[in-house]
Amino acid sequence: MNRIIGLMKQYNISPVKRLGQNFLTDENMINKLKEAINPMPGDYIIEIGPGLGSLTQVLAGNSSVLYCIEIDTKLYHVINERFGHIPGFISGNFDVLKLNSKEPLPGYQEEYKVKITGNLPYYITTPIIMKFLEEDFKFDSMYFMMQKEVADRITGKPGTKEYGSLTVAVNYYCEARNVLNVPPHSFCPQPNVHSVFLELKKRPVPAVDVKDKDFFFQVVRGAFNQRRKTLVNALSNYPSLNINKEELQSVLESMGLDVNIRGERLDVDQFADLSNRLFKE
Ligand code: SAM
Repeated sequence: MNRIIGLMKQYNISPVKRLGQNFLTDENMINKLKEAINPMPGDYIIEIGPGLGSLTQVLAGNSSVLYCIEIDTKLYHVINERFGHIPGFISGNFDVLKLNSKEPLPGYQEEYKVKITGNLPYYITTPIIMKFLEEDFKFDSMYFMMQKEVADRITGKPGTKEYGSLTVAVNYYCEARNVLNVPPHSFCPQPNVHSVFLELKKRPVPAVDVKDKDFFFQVVRGAFNQRRKTLVNALSNYPSLNINKEELQSVLESMGLDVNIRGERLDVDQFADLSNRLFKE
């Protein structure tokens, strides 16, 4: 019998849909994820939602620290029973969205390379990614399993329907790479979506130079808030920006862009240029 399905029976676990519990059972996929994460001494790995330990079992003991954060108390006990004896294994029973970026990570040392990974609960994929990006967590790379649609939005190209504020935000901080496509039958229970395992490598410096990061992201959000409208209409209607149409038109002209252009046509460099031209000290 499959190891993970055996554990579900042994511990009498019925997956909780509300917590996005789809356990990875496909050993071949699990080994490929391990290869991509490449755990090694000197790594501090945070695993989000270890569940029954599908990924944990190939990570534990291979990095200096493996810090597992699991919200479900029953599963938290299972992983402690399975891996608690392994050197470097640490666990926490709480909501990962409550992880405090101001507090030092348990067992952390300055020389460690931080990798964050997980087969993410799909109901909070975007909040988890944005938390680690925006709260200034010190990390080297993230490796996440997510719903294909979310991965497509992260890797989307300008002008496509997938391209949006999530694309710009993630690419501002990281370089994204699609590592693996994972079909529903690799999980138990099977989700009704396809999945993608994505690598997000933190850039040494952000992709673009902006005068004011908050203002830059407001312009991006404003542009995609009403994405069917022209950029001039979308941004002039966006309450927190307070920019009028005439100013927007003249800035677009000075950038050599059509005044009727839609925001989805602008790449990250053009958004940076636009926000720098619009920003007032
Ligand atoms: N890693 C396991 C695997 O690959 O089989 C389980 C993955 S399952 C898709 C998502 C896991 O995240 C579940 O174990 C679930 O209980 C846990 N989880 C859900 N919401 C969470 C949260 N807010 N914080 C921490 N863990 C969470």
